[in-house]
Amino acid sequence: MSGVAPLAYRLGEFHPFAAAEHNFVYLPAGALFELDEAAGRLIRRLEEGEVPHPALVDELMASGYERADAEALIGELRGARIIVAGDMVAAPMANPPADFPLQALVMNLTNQCNLACTYCYEFGADKIATPHGKPKYMSLETAKASVDFLLAQSAGRKAVHITFFGGETLMNFPLLRDVVAYARERAQGQGRSVGFSLTTNATLLSPAIIGFLSEHEIGVTVSIDGPPDLQDKRRVYKSGRGSYAVIEPKLRALIANHKTRAITARVTLTDGVTDVIRIYRHLKDNLGFHEVGFAPVTASNRQSYSIDDADMEGVIAQFHALADEWLEFALRGEMHGFSNVSETIGELVQGVNKSHPCGAGLGLLGVGPSGDLAPCHRFVDADSHTLGHVATGIDQGKRSDFLTRGHVGAKYDCQTCWARPLCAGGCHHEAFVRYGDTGHANLHYCDWIRDWTDICLRIYGALSVQNPGFLGRFAERRALS
Ligand code: SF4
Ligand code: SF4
Repeated sequence: MSGVAPLAYRLGEFHPFAAAEHNFVYLPAGALFELDEAAGRLIRRLEEGEVPHPALVDELMASGYERADAEALIGELRGARIIVAGDMVAAPMANPPADFPLQALVMNLTNQCNLACTYCYEFGADKIATPHGKPKYMSLETAKASVDFLLAQSAGRKAVHITFFGGETLMNFPLLRDVVAYARERAQGQGRSVGFSLTTNATLLSPAIIGFLSEHEIGVTVSIDGPPDLQDKRRVYKSGRGSYAVIEPKLRALIANHKTRAITARVTLTDGVTDVIRIYRHLKDNLGFHEVGFAPVTASNRQSYSIDDADMEGVIAQFHALADEWLEFALRGEMHGFSNVSETIGELVQGVNKSHPCGAGLGLLGVGPSGDLAPCHRFVDADSHTLGHVATGIDQGKRSDFLTRGHVGAKYDCQTCWARPLCAGGCHHEAFVRYGDTGHANLHYCDWIRDWTDICLRIYGALSVQNPGFLGRFAERRALS
């Protein structure tokens, strides 16, 4: 007579890590789980191979557990999918809702720029924009239609956000001013609120503009690459002249006089501009930015400005050093300005499990000077990625195609990657530039992404043990920002 074989357990999918002498696992659903001694022992036991349920219970009881406690521990680890039995059923993948209310609109007020940064994704070798025959500056009529579109498409949301972008955003400052007034009035008329931010190269800042930005609580992100020798390598005027000398006094005035919102620096790392710590110190300590974030340049194969593997190693080492510093600050209860850590910790605090790498095409859309809609600002003016028009609405078929391609479940290599709850395959725009397909996983950065995610998990773990109050305050601050 043959009986039914008892369930046999093996390890599920997770990423183990240790912090502050505690052991944790990070799960494919984006959750963190601290292991006590018994759970750690049980996992080590299953590392040797499958163990049937009765044997596992017996082993736990032999080590001093009551039967009920042994069953409860097994049940808890099974519920979290840290251990699994029978055929592995993939963890459910978060699907994007069919109808996702818009939350943020990036308005490219102009596609013109007064600089000619040699690595720019809008104007450089890898540009995908096709602006020929389209307006260079957004009109007030298109801008108002964009605001109306945002408010209509965000029904149910109390607060929405507009980010002003370019080209160089401030080349169309009069429109920005008008949009702030119009959007505030329209939102207030509906009992709702609207927040604003802009990205700028800082060359056109003036006392009047700074006063306006401060008065209207408009967050500012400045694209800047560091001290003069690094900024002037590639952030140049069309004549080739560097821009540092022009922007430095303007930035000092901005940071001294705009106190209502954070002023953030956004650095693009390129060949020869990889001195992360020196750049950070200059922007944070010398110029006084509140936050500084870094991203390697987006480039197709080898461009003259791409970072090679050896330099990337150096970048990663410096990221590690700044991340250690971030943790030291946090353990003392202080905020540190290295935003690459802050952003990832913010996502871990929220327990995100992304279906898509970012909000592009979901809660976020870009709109170009012509009124054409795009998944985000980087696709604006690219005919290959138009998702409709503010006057006629979203082309749901195209949006659905974009989201289906970009879903992490459609990216083969990501299915077995423990970092997918946070990465979800990486930026759609970068994927298109690299691989010609927005739905391709950004496999060139996987090692880096996993290394970075592991660093941030350790920071989170250490804080959860040594200063959990900081994580609570951090979460509150992020929710308000
Ligand atoms: S792109 Fe790479 S790091 Fe990101 S989820 Fe996919 S496999 Fe993982
Ligand atoms: S597609 Fe890339 S550039 Fe656009 S919002 Fe997403 S991460 Fe940012």
